[in-house]
Amino acid sequence: VAPGVASGDVKVLAVDVGGTKMAVALADDQGRLSFAASVPTPQGGDAEQLWAALAALVAEVPVDDAEACGVGIGGPMRQDNELVSPLNIPGWRDFPLRRRLVHLTGLPTAVENDAKSLALGEGWCGAARGLDHYLAMVVSTGVGGGIVLDGRLLDGADGNAGHIGHVIVVPGGRRCACGAHGCLEAEASGRSIAAITGAPAEEAGPDVVARCGRLVGQAVASVANLLDLRLAVVAGSVALGYGDAFFAAAQDEIDRQARLSFSRGTRIRPAALGAAGPLVGAAAVGRRAVGARR
Ligand SMILES: [Zn+2]
Repeated sequence: VAPGVASGDVKVLAVDVGGTKMAVALADDQGRLSFAASVPTPQGGDAEQLWAALAALVAEVPVDDAEACGVGIGGPMRQDNELVSPLNIPGWRDFPLRRRLVHLTGLPTAVENDAKSLALGEGWCGAARGLDHYLAMVVSTGVGGGIVLDGRLLDGADGNAGHIGHVIVVPGGRRCACGAHGCLEAEASGRSIAAITGAPAEEAGPDVVARCGRLVGQAVASVANLLDLRLAVVAGSVALGYGDAFFAAAQDEIDRQARLSFSRGTRIRPAALGAAGPLVGAAAVGRRAVGARR
């Protein structure tokens, strides 16, 4: 056991902070969850109201049994993830979430973008289990992603590596919230589909589902060609809700566009962790912080 590498049964306090709910659990070294609890995220709450809700939730978990704490939350964040400003939680802007949690629990704590957390979780005990090279993405209201390459989650200069939602899939296409045109998120996210069709994304017809799959497949093929990886794991209510028709359209597009000797055969698959994904991902973030092995 190398210095700083936890051994044996590492229990982690997992914290998932989303725009609609906050969830916590204790995760064991197999990714099994206990003491799971959640509360609605206080809508319109200010920074301290939001924090009070989360702190009360954490108090329901026996943190004395935990060796670390991991958090998955929407981006962006800065100063090495010390300050979070999740787009879906307007009350937190430059909120020092990690420091607050350390003060509350006394645990070594790491905060990570929720899509990157999911990537770690799917590699730990989900659809990418044991793989060293893969992409994980979320296609839901927005589109996010995380990339594991050479066995390591990619961070990038400011921790934002893996933002596949802003890969251009329709040159000159719809204007994206980021300011560019034709980003995957502007064309294939739940929010965009609702704007394009005038109805909730879950009511989309077969043509819209197929187009969403094709565009996601196009982005995945580009990433496979760029990074020499062969698997994309996809979670999120839009992709999983569309199901087989979405995945078939995405796979067809990947087969057409990932043609290099190394990218041919790239697969796209549904994430395996289901509703537990965000908390298992958060636990994986905590394990990464204390250097636990996969
Ligand atoms: Zn964009």
